[in-house]
Amino acid sequence: MKQPTLGNPKNTIAVLQKYNFVFQKKFGQNFLIDPHVLDKIIRAAQIGKDDVVLEIGPGIGTMTQYLACAAKKVIAVEIDRALIPILEDTLSGYDNVRIINEDVLKVDIAKLAEEENGGNPIKVVANLPYYITTPIIMGLFENHVPMKSITVMVQREVADRMQAGPGTKDYGALSLAVRYYANPYIVANVPPNCFMPRPKVGSAVIRLERYEKPPVEVKDEKLMFRLIRASFNQRRKTLANGLKNSQELDFEKEVIEEAILQLGKGASVRGEALTLEQFAALSNALAESAWPRHS
Ligand code: SAM
Repeated sequence: MKQPTLGNPKNTIAVLQKYNFVFQKKFGQNFLIDPHVLDKIIRAAQIGKDDVVLEIGPGIGTMTQYLACAAKKVIAVEIDRALIPILEDTLSGYDNVRIINEDVLKVDIAKLAEEENGGNPIKVVANLPYYITTPIIMGLFENHVPMKSITVMVQREVADRMQAGPGTKDYGALSLAVRYYANPYIVANVPPNCFMPRPKVGSAVIRLERYEKPPVEVKDEKLMFRLIRASFNQRRKTLANGLKNSQELDFEKEVIEEAILQLGKGASVRGEALTLEQFAALSNALAESAWPRHS
């Protein structure tokens, strides 16, 4: 198989000029131009010859070339039609790549994993478009896509939120969702000069290793995530008030207060102080008290 040719400024510019490519800001296009960062991502993703990889947003195919060399197969989903002829050119020497011209948020990825890997876990690797990082990650988890891991470039601040623990300013619904589904680990910080054009924010590569089983037992996942959202939507309010005011929930005041008391917490506790285990316990207590009305 051909060795990667992209991943440095000179060759990236040559491809962009050949096709008169115009960057689309609305698609979050910042292409990687640093081979060290690319090597780091591929190593962190632990790609082997048995792996089927989903790449979200291949751009001009830079990381796709690296992935194609390491994996059994790469499925690359790109929204920008203008990039398709470029990808067909830059990936012509690789016979294990399938390019799909689609909005990744509209693709049934679980079905794609079934078609491409017989429902066995895939690995997701991407330099993500930052404007839709959270819906992409949450979609992969919530739709129960069979996967071993997600290794992605995200905005530094989002990587911090994914890894944050209770009581910190970055802790929120995203931190809890990530911890329910996966073990997060920041692989590297990446400065703006590793991209073309340079983004205004710092970036980081984060690896989320999917748990086979969530670390807590939850009777009703949907209810737990509603409770989490309600707690952080009104961050400054007490947990009890946040839950009482939520449009997504309708528990009696006394039921909420009793469930919080059962956690061993005072009436003034805020949601941001609760661990995943405590949200699971709260959710299980409420599910029991009101079941099946709130299912
Ligand atoms: N992987 C390339 C690289 O590292 O050089 C490009 C990464 S760039 C940050 C993000 C890519 O995602 C762009 O190619 C962009 O067109 C694509 N993209 C943006 N929104 C998308 C969507 N909804 N579905 C699929 N691809 C999308």
